[in-house]
Amino acid sequence: PKTAYVRTKPHLNIGTMGHVDHGKTTLTAAITKVLAERGSGTFVPFDRIDRAPEEAARGITINISHVEYETDTRHYAHVDMPGHADYVKNMVTGAAQLDGAILVVSALDGIMPQTAEHVLLARQVGVNHIVVALNKADAGDEELTDLVELEVRELLTAHGYGGDSVPVVRVSGLRALEGDPRWTEAIGALLDAVDTYVPMPERYLDAPFLLPVENVLTITGRGTVVTGAVERGTVRVGDRVEVLGAAVDTVVTGLETFGKPMDEAQAGDNVALLLRGVPRDAVRRGHIVAAPDSVLPSRRFSAQVYVLSAREGGRTTPVSTGYRPQFYIRTADVVGDVDLGERAVARPGDTVTMTVELGREVPLEPGLGFAIREGGRTVGAGTVTAVVG
Ligand code: GDP
Ligand code: MG
Repeated sequence: PKTAYVRTKPHLNIGTMGHVDHGKTTLTAAITKVLAERGSGTFVPFDRIDRAPEEAARGITINISHVEYETDTRHYAHVDMPGHADYVKNMVTGAAQLDGAILVVSALDGIMPQTAEHVLLARQVGVNHIVVALNKADAGDEELTDLVELEVRELLTAHGYGGDSVPVVRVSGLRALEGDPRWTEAIGALLDAVDTYVPMPERYLDAPFLLPVENVLTITGRGTVVTGAVERGTVRVGDRVEVLGAAVDTVVTGLETFGKPMDEAQAGDNVALLLRGVPRDAVRRGHIVAAPDSVLPSRRFSAQVYVLSAREGGRTTPVSTGYRPQFYIRTADVVGDVDLGERAVARPGDTVTMTVELGREVPLEPGLGFAIREGGRTVGAGTVTAVVG
């Protein structure tokens, strides 16, 4: 039988961010290796992370790889996303739900466009704590690395992260993976920085249970399983839940985290929920599993929206009332009509208020973040200010 998940330490969700090829996946593998050697986790090699096992097994491209590990004081779920588009999608929609992030910057290359974009995204989605891994420090010369560090601190300050006090740790994911003691120690220092600098976030354990569905799969002989991160509340095996979007009432008959059964899942946990008697095709990514009658879905809301500049990968031309992009809200992807009111246009780089009418109802509440996408790229990021009728 599988070993049950025992909650002995606070659980946090973190992830690597940064420009392609700066070493995010190598560093992720190195962290698991160093901790496995300390006896607190399982080594996950590079090629297992870079190609998530879920992708192979489920035939679904989820473009987000989770690994788990423990330090002396905490249990972490760590996400490593393969491409820039995955960051935009998973971070802005909240699917990644990062409590803190490790910004990976190559000491050889310094800040590159996606370094800056990920810092911007992190700020917009409310990731309040960043620790910097100056990677490839094995190959860089010291003076150049000092310059890169200065540059990174400035970038973080420019985005409100207090760059002077952010921990910057020089590491080599590659050498640590090879077992080099100096760089193994550096990974330890990085983890200490994460343990101490990223605070335990407030979890809304008393709120009614809510989980945005990330993926749906079938376990032969057992039924339909949905996966995702618990946004708030707790859920236990035997609890009644409703699936919003599917209009289904059901019962949770099993709960797992990272393959380990659990009796109760709580806000912040990444879990798989087995649902009684729900056909596989009734539930989809974007649906919401919630405590019965705890949320009222709606279609209209007002919002404050930042329209990304062209330099940030956004539009080159303004938008006006009647604009009809896709809204990524939690894990859902819904078309919406934009009304800019008195204001005629919103230019790239502007922050504006707007009213939105969605193509279908979703649970909305003030403070909820979302992304606006068009033709596969992000053109805006916003926050719901009020739900309208
Ligand atoms: P990602 O795109 O950010 O996930 O980067 P990868 O982890 O795939 O690494 C990109 C390349 O950089 C690979 O060829 C790695 O072997 C190399 N690399 C990663 N970490 C280090 C390091 O610490 N030192 C050196 N010298 N090379 C590294
Ligand atoms: Mg990678």
